[in-house]
Amino acid sequence: MTPDAPTGPDRTPATLPLPPMKWDAWGDPDLAKPLSEDIRALLEQALGVTPADHPAPTAQEVVLRPSALSREDLDALAGIVGAAHVSSHDADRLPRAGGKSTPDLLRRRSREVQDAPDAVVLPGGEDEITAVLALCAERRIAVVPFGGGTSVVGGVDPVRGGFTAVISLDLRRFDRLESLDEVSGEAVLGAGLTGPQAEALLAARGYELGHYPQSFRYATVGGFAATRSSGQNSAGHGRFDDMVRGLRVLTPSGAIDLGRAPASAAGPDLRQLFLGSEGTLGVITAVRLRVHPTPAVKIHEAWSFPDFATGAAALREVEQQGTGPTVIRISDETETAINLAMTDRIGGAQVTGGCLAVTVFEGTPEQAAARHLRTREVLLAAGGTSLGEEAAKAWEHGRFNAPYLRDSLLTAGALCETLETATSWAGLAALKAAVTSALEDALRESGSSALVMCHISHVYPTGASLYFTVVAAQQDDPLEQWGRAKRAAGDAILAHGGTITHHHAVGTDHLPWMTREIGDLGVRILRAVKDAVDPAGILNPGKLIP
Ligand SMILES: Cc1cc2nc3c(=O)[nH]c(=O)nc-3n(C[C@H](O)[C@H](O)[C@H](O)COP(=O)(O)OP(=O)(O)OC[C@H]3O[C@@H](n4cnc5c(N)ncnc54)[C@H](O)[C@@H]3O)c2cc1C
Repeated sequence: MTPDAPTGPDRTPATLPLPPMKWDAWGDPDLAKPLSEDIRALLEQALGVTPADHPAPTAQEVVLRPSALSREDLDALAGIVGAAHVSSHDADRLPRAGGKSTPDLLRRRSREVQDAPDAVVLPGGEDEITAVLALCAERRIAVVPFGGGTSVVGGVDPVRGGFTAVISLDLRRFDRLESLDEVSGEAVLGAGLTGPQAEALLAARGYELGHYPQSFRYATVGGFAATRSSGQNSAGHGRFDDMVRGLRVLTPSGAIDLGRAPASAAGPDLRQLFLGSEGTLGVITAVRLRVHPTPAVKIHEAWSFPDFATGAAALREVEQQGTGPTVIRISDETETAINLAMTDRIGGAQVTGGCLAVTVFEGTPEQAAARHLRTREVLLAAGGTSLGEEAAKAWEHGRFNAPYLRDSLLTAGALCETLETATSWAGLAALKAAVTSALEDALRESGSSALVMCHISHVYPTGASLYFTVVAAQQDDPLEQWGRAKRAAGDAILAHGGTITHHHAVGTDHLPWMTREIGDLGVRILRAVKDAVDPAGILNPGKLIP
C-alpha cells in the first residue's frame, strides 16, 4: 500500500517519488500495531497515560512555511537536474521535513506552521550534484543530503543556518550495484540504495552485506556511512564503518575518492573524516564495501540470566574470547519483564524473571556449529540457562517492527523514545544506573513516572553499548518534557564516561555535548576541515559541528 500523499494548503499532488515511509509515522501503514484494550488499561494504571484530547492534523491540514526559493532559483535547479526532478510543492516538501525521532513525530502532529525544506532536488548523476552545490554556494542556499530520512537526531532538519533557503538533496536515484569484485569480496553500492535494495542486488549474486539496523527497511547506504550506523549483526560483521573499504564524496571544493588498498600507512585515514560527517562535509555518492557469501545456515539460541550483571559479564567473556556469534544482546530486568508480560512461556520453558539474551550464529554449517558450541560453553559456565531456539527466532522475526509500537503509544498519549551510548565494560554498570536515574528523576520532575528499559545492543572486546527505551505519560508540552529528560540523560552520559552517541550520530540533538565529547581542539579541527571542503558553509548547517 502506498502511504497517503500529503497535500498542505498548496494542494498540488506530489510530483516527485515519495519516500516510502508515512510522513508522520514509521514505515508502512499496513504494519501499524494498534494497542489492545488491555495494554491501554495497563498504561493508564501504571503510568497515568490518557489519550491526547487534540487530534493530530491530517496531511491535508498541515500548514507548511512557504518556500523561500524564487522562481529563478527553482528554474536554475531545474536547469541542472531537469524540471521533473525538482519540486517546491508542499506534498514533496512535507515528507522530507524531518527524520523519525519522537520529537520529529511530535512536531509533525503540530497544528502550528511547520518548517520544511524550500525545495526537494533529486540529482541523477555526480555532475548534477557538483553543479547543484556550486549553484547553492553562489546563491547562498543551504543543502541537506537526504537518504532514507530515518535520522533520529535532527540530521535532516531543514536548518537554514543564516542562508536564505534550504533544499533537500534526495539521493534516491543513486541506486545501482556499480560493481562486485568476487575475488576480493568487495562491492560498490550507490548511496541511495535502501538496506533491502542493497541486499537484494547482492543476494542475486550470492552475496550479503549483513548490515541490519532496526531502520534497515528504509535507511540508505549513504546514510549508514554518513552516520556510522551499527547493525544488529555487528558482533559478527562489524559496524558499517568497519565494512567500508572506499568512498566517493562530492564537496563544494571538489570530488574525493578515498580507500586505495585494504590497509595503508599513507598518513591518517581520510575515510574516517567522511564516515560520520552527516552531510556536513560532502555528499557521499558511492561506497565500496566488504561483502561475504550469503550464509549457508543460521543457528538461534535464547538464554536467561539471573540478573543483568551476570548476563553482561557473560557477554563480555564471549566477546573477549572471540567465540564468534553474529548477534549477541541482552535485555535488563525491566525490559525482560515487559517482554514476558506479553508471553510468559519462552521456548517452551517457564521463565519468571531475570534477563533474556539472544544469540545467532552464521556461516557454513561447520563454522556456525563451531561458533555456537564455543559460545554456549562460555554462556553456560557464566551462569546462563538455555531457553532453546524459539525466542531467538521470534526476536529475529519481529526485529524491524518495534517502531510501529512507538506510533501507537504516541497516539495513546504516551511519550516513548530511545537513546543510546557506549562505554568500557568496567564503567558499564555505573553508566547504566546514572542514565536510568537521570531519566526517571527528570520525568518525575515533569510530573510523570517513567518506565526505563535497557539492553546491551552491541559488544566489543573492551566495552559495550547501552540502548535505553523510555515510556511515560505525555504532559502538556511533550517536546519540552522529553527535552528535559534528554538533557539530563546526556549530562549523565558525559559525566559517567559514556559517548553521547554510539550509533545514532550527532545531528542537531547531540550538538550541545559535542565540545565535551571531542574537546575545543577537536571542534577546531572539524571546523578547519569544513572550511577546506565547504568554504561557504552550505552543507547541512547546524548539525554535528558546534
Ligand atoms: C526506528 C529507528 C530505528 C533505528 N535503528 C538504528 C540502528 O539499529 N542502528 C543505527 O545505527 N541507527 C538506527 N537508526 C538511526 C538511523 O536509521 C540511522 O542513522 C541511518 O543510518 C540513517 O540513514 P538514512 O539513509 O535514513 O539517512 P538520513 O536520515 O536521510 O540522513 C542521516 C544523516 O546523514 C546525512 N546523509 C544521508 N545520506 C547522505 C549522503 N549520501 N551523503 C552525505 N550525507 C548523507 C544526512 O544529511 C543526515 O545528516 C534508527 C532510526 C529509527 C527511526
